[in-house]
Amino acid sequence: MTEPSIFTRILNGEIPGEILADTDRVFAIRDIAPQAPVHLLVIPKTQEYRDVTELAAGDPELLAEMVAVAKDLATEHADGEFRLIFNTGAGAGQTVFHVHAHLLAGGLDEKSLGA
Ligand code: AMP
Repeated sequence: MTEPSIFTRILNGEIPGEILADTDRVFAIRDIAPQAPVHLLVIPKTQEYRDVTELAAGDPELLAEMVAVAKDLATEHADGEFRLIFNTGAGAGQTVFHVHAHLLAGGLDEKSLGA
């Protein structure tokens, strides 16, 4: 059996984390090491998809739900405009292999693409 990811453990209340959005299939938390004034993580409740390519192939509707949740959060926590980043692969900076989107918003530096 796969070990629960850090995000699953936060969802289950085993590790502290403020849940900022909670739908049937998606939740969101604040990133512990923010790289922008608003830096949230939008995460499917299932950890069966390791990255966005697997998610897009396996459940495109769930990916679309993540985007809809991101939009709502950007409106709630910033001015509605946002950057959505999926690090995909260790070489691209992915450290948690439970797919998640970095939602960056609120006074973004135009030159910075990093999450
Ligand atoms: P990635 O490097 O794209 O896999 O993103 C993983 C993100 O999870 C990083 O930005 C971390 O700062 C964040 N992170 C790791 N542990 C926690 C935690 N306990 N609570 C919130 N965010 C976390």
